[in-house]
Amino acid sequence: MATVYLNGDFLPVDQAKVSVLDRGFLFGDGVYEVIPVYGGRLLRLEHHLQRLQNSLDAIGLVNPRSDGQWTDIFHALIQQNPSTDHSLYLQVTRGVAPKRDHAYPQETRPTVFVMVNPLKPMDKQELAQGVEAITLDDIRWRACNIKATALLANAMLRNQAVERGAAEAILIRDGMVTEGAASNVFVIRKGELLTPPKGPLLLPGITRDLVLELASENGMPAQEVEIPEASLHKADEIWLTSSTREILPVVKLDGVAVGNGEAGPIWQGMIDIYQDYKDRFRRGEI
Ligand code: PMP
Repeated sequence: MATVYLNGDFLPVDQAKVSVLDRGFLFGDGVYEVIPVYGGRLLRLEHHLQRLQNSLDAIGLVNPRSDGQWTDIFHALIQQNPSTDHSLYLQVTRGVAPKRDHAYPQETRPTVFVMVNPLKPMDKQELAQGVEAITLDDIRWRACNIKATALLANAMLRNQAVERGAAEAILIRDGMVTEGAASNVFVIRKGELLTPPKGPLLLPGITRDLVLELASENGMPAQEVEIPEASLHKADEIWLTSSTREILPVVKLDGVAVGNGEAGPIWQGMIDIYQDYKDRFRRGEI
């Protein structure tokens, strides 16, 4: 049985319990991170810890652990749950308040939960099959840069996509692409990588930033720029990026083939660069 971390203890997942008065349960009052772990090493750990800090600051919660303490917890959990690769999930909620009241309570002890799950990264051939996506109206709030556990809108949107036989919903707000229900979006036009700029309307994805960094290092033109919905439909390629699904080509959008309906040449180039980066990271060279 998997071992998880809850409020200072390492224990079997079925023994990890939180109160029904936890504000995470009652209000979705908490934030989280997902970090990929390759060969026991946490990819872009500092970036994830910084984004966690930003999310905590945004909701007025003091970080309950130092970066060093977080790192120790992560490594202990990885050791106790052997696997080649893992996806690590951590969540901090505002904890238990004596009375249900929307306003933040004066003093609560945050609830700190961490778990790891085996991660089986897809190989290039699997990824190259691509996925279908649909466009949906972005019904979420205007604080999507916070990695909040309150994901009802994202869940509704992803679920609509799945019900329509697609893997992801690409979200449109006021005629512009924001991101996927659980991913960032890249559009390739005439050999250039385009992705919407950071701001309150989307999550600053760690994979998104890594892809931009790798593009720049490898001389691939890229721009952070608003993408009108019409450009999405004219894209040569569309990619979805996230920590667990890496860089996924979209081969069909709203039932229509993207480009020639196969993973495109720019994706082929980028996925090799990304896999090489991961291999070097795994070997401790990065
Ligand atoms: N946007 C949303 C809404 C997400 O939930 C995620 C993560 N699943 C991402 C973007 C991608 O972020 P990251 O690359 O840090 O996993």
